[in-house]
Amino acid sequence: MTDSARTRVPIVRPSLGDDEVDAATRVIRSGWVTQGPEVAAFESEFAAAVGAPHAVAVANCTVALQLALLAVGVKPGDDVVTVSHSFVATANAVVAAGARPVFADVRRQTLGMDPGALEAALTPRTKAILCVHQIGIPCDLEGILAIASRHGLPVIEDAACAIGSEVLWKGRWERIGRPHGLIACFSFHPRKIVTTGDGGMLTTADDALAARFRLLRQHAMTVPDTVRHQATSVVFEDYVEPAFNFRMTDLQAAIGRPQLARLSAIVAERRRLADRYRKAFDDHPLFAPPVEEPWARSNWQSYPVFLREGSGVSQVEAMQYLLDNGIACKRGISNAHQELAYADRSRWACGPESCPEHSCRCLAASEWLRDHTILLPLFHGMTDGEQERVIEACTDLAGVRGKTA
Ligand SMILES: *Cc1c(COP(=O)(O)O)cnc(C)c1O
Repeated sequence: MTDSARTRVPIVRPSLGDDEVDAATRVIRSGWVTQGPEVAAFESEFAAAVGAPHAVAVANCTVALQLALLAVGVKPGDDVVTVSHSFVATANAVVAAGARPVFADVRRQTLGMDPGALEAALTPRTKAILCVHQIGIPCDLEGILAIASRHGLPVIEDAACAIGSEVLWKGRWERIGRPHGLIACFSFHPRKIVTTGDGGMLTTADDALAARFRLLRQHAMTVPDTVRHQATSVVFEDYVEPAFNFRMTDLQAAIGRPQLARLSAIVAERRRLADRYRKAFDDHPLFAPPVEEPWARSNWQSYPVFLREGSGVSQVEAMQYLLDNGIACKRGISNAHQELAYADRSRWACGPESCPEHSCRCLAASEWLRDHTILLPLFHGMTDGEQERVIEACTDLAGVRGKTA
């Protein structure tokens, strides 16, 4: 085993420091540990950071998506057009809302929903569109929203990975989450760039939707406990419909706040690292770098490279070589329709009803991406030396292939 294999460059390293320790300590000493003043502060700071009128915190992004779907009226028997090419939580949230996911293919360049495929996937039962800003790369919101408004459908953005990503909107760069659709949902899982351990956030410009999220996340209780505890006269709360416990705790919110304050610096650093990767892979014989659309700026939550056609090396071979040389890496994003959870073909659809059930190529780009993408290490706090080791290993692999080919 080489030296470098012993000290592996990780795919991600959460950056939690003294500020987060102090924040957690402050909450513990305060005696109020679940949804309370820290959640309220985190929500307003988050809303300000992305430019949203409302931000509502919940336990994780998966339940945020479920809540968003329920709030726009999705119910059993409905269809939701989404992508298969995503973390399985996206499709699972549709199922949790009682609806059927209808998968539209993605574009190779954005890894996000192809507006043409979206239009072809609409069914008479479609009630909502759930698009994804995959690994932080903005999807074609303008194209998707144009089709959605023609059909009068709400757009929910799965922005789990996209905090700090931007789109060029009517001539100005805006952060994902204003939102540009009706609702955007974020994740604070440790794999994302701001983490609260677990956690999620919904943003919207719609007052009634925000009020509905606040009600449903806490058992549809009419008087929040923060209000009840401050009341000077007796207050009885009501529970007005069956709902959920989707609360975020104050402990989680408190450790998110210092990270949110560092967001611009975090994203700038990730863009600097991504730019170095791009220069290294522009003429690489095996791997092609991602190309950003002129209207999109990724936060580079993950850095994907794509196996070039005819490179002669398989995804598994390349990944094994990197691993042997001390570089952690991951396969491309999975596709829900290729997972066992969705083996039962009656659980989902993939386009117009006329689409042949088993032999269609509706999701060809999704399948290509899963099998030709490798995610390389990229995290804030990554040293230039660590990044050079990744680039060197990729260059060496090309040399090895050159000799044996
Ligand atoms: C991580 C992720 C989720 C799920 O987020 P959780 O907070 O872990 O529930 C959903 N969608 C996408 C695209 C993700 O990457």
